[in-house]
Amino acid sequence: MRLVLLGPPGAGKGTQAAKLAAYLGVPHISTGNFLRHNVAQGTDLGKKAKAYMDAGQLVPDDIVIAMTERRLKEPDAKKGFILDGFPRTIAQAEALSKFTKLDAAVNFFLEPEELIKRNTGRRVCPKDDTVYHIFMNPPKKAGVCDECGTPLVIRADDREDVVRKRIETYERQTAPLIKYYRDRGLLREVYASGLIEEIFHRAIEVLKESVPPRER
Ligand code: AMP
Repeated sequence: MRLVLLGPPGAGKGTQAAKLAAYLGVPHISTGNFLRHNVAQGTDLGKKAKAYMDAGQLVPDDIVIAMTERRLKEPDAKKGFILDGFPRTIAQAEALSKFTKLDAAVNFFLEPEELIKRNTGRRVCPKDDTVYHIFMNPPKKAGVCDECGTPLVIRADDREDVVRKRIETYERQTAPLIKYYRDRGLLREVYASGLIEEIFHRAIEVLKESVPPRER
């Protein structure tokens, strides 16, 4: 299956993307994770992206489009993919439509007040990108990753002022994609409040409509 996940920062896209990828046996491709690793390693791409990311703004389209196109050409993406964090602008969606065909765009939606709370409680593993939340999804041992024991960190852009900016950026530049995919008959909506497992089951349910019976 070839899926795009939409939703404001804090809606739980990354968590659901990882679960859907494991369930469907396709790679989880997160442009945010890829960019953060490049920033941490100080690559040319990371140097170009850092200032935008620190400010809660989008990295320019040409950079992320080229990067995503390259990633989707890798052999593991032939059988499908979960795109998490791309597209984020209409220009990116148009570019994506030129290099692949999608089965659905899943929009995770949530009340705005919940978003700030969600983002500020998020903790991530800098090594394997596992996402936790201090209340909703805490690690077994406080402050360390269940999978690899690495100390968890707060994302640089999860500070409250940056979170507000990221939500504003989302509303302005990314929310129009909901209409874009609705107009193309690809939009599937998932209410993103509740337990992680409940949200996951809602996602699987809405996706049944998009999977041809032989692939179910
Ligand atoms: P995320 O982990 O998806 O919240 O992404 C973190 C940050 O990476 C965003 O706030 C942007 O600065 C940048 N980023 C990730 N994906 C994209 C994209 N498709 N277009 C532009 N910037 C992006």
